[in-house]
Amino acid sequence: MRQSLVVGNWKMNGSIQNNQSLIEGLKQNIASVQRAEVAVCPPFVYLQQVSELLKGTAIGWGGQNVSQQDPGAFTGEAAASMLVDFSCKYVIVGHSERRSLYGESDELVAEKFAKAQSANLIPILCVGELLEEREAGEMEKVVKRQLDAVINLQGVASLAKSVIAYEPVWAIGTGKTATPQQAQDVHAFIRGRIAEQDGGVAEKVQILYGGSVKGSNAAELFSKPDIDGGLIGGASLKADDFLAICQAGQ
Ligand code: PEP
Repeated sequence: MRQSLVVGNWKMNGSIQNNQSLIEGLKQNIASVQRAEVAVCPPFVYLQQVSELLKGTAIGWGGQNVSQQDPGAFTGEAAASMLVDFSCKYVIVGHSERRSLYGESDELVAEKFAKAQSANLIPILCVGELLEEREAGEMEKVVKRQLDAVINLQGVASLAKSVIAYEPVWAIGTGKTATPQQAQDVHAFIRGRIAEQDGGVAEKVQILYGGSVKGSNAAELFSKPDIDGGLIGGASLKADDFLAICQAGQ
């Protein structure tokens, strides 16, 4: 059985003071989370603070993005080796905000995935369709294209050391959650697509759901056979809300 995983994506939120109280709140009650592994992804500039506060606890941490380049003249970027310096376990790649607001292509996301793995980080590869794409019946085509970019560059075996997050773009930060069955259908499609190439990898890889997950809908989503936890945006910014989701991990 796959370990369930719940990851908080803080996006561009936080302050030294707020991070301190959020992390204290998480630490106080993390013992109430029985099954899920838990991690948070703060903005880069807070990795030092968050890593110091979380060191020695059951909560892991990671980055929200990584450069596809090695260290050098790339203003504003952060290299995989720098995330490793702060003992990150995970890094999110290909979040839909990066794809849509910063023009990250499937190929660039695949390069970031590769760079993360070469530094022994676990990439959390985000895939998901826009509302227009779902309405046009192109959901599977889009998710397959995003997944295949990584498989083509790195091989299917690389997915065994990664996490996939299915995040329908129309459900991110909108309050519209995919129904548990809609999410399960896409998760099963992703796992099936991987299984066509390697059944062992398909069985192993954790596939998280993301998109307006809350304490009130997490348990039903996480009860689905191919949903192994969640990538949580808005609801990861309050300790009680995030812990309620983590507690729903199966
Ligand atoms: C996300 O940004 O990864 C996300 C799922 O956001 P939210 O939970 O706020 O929809």
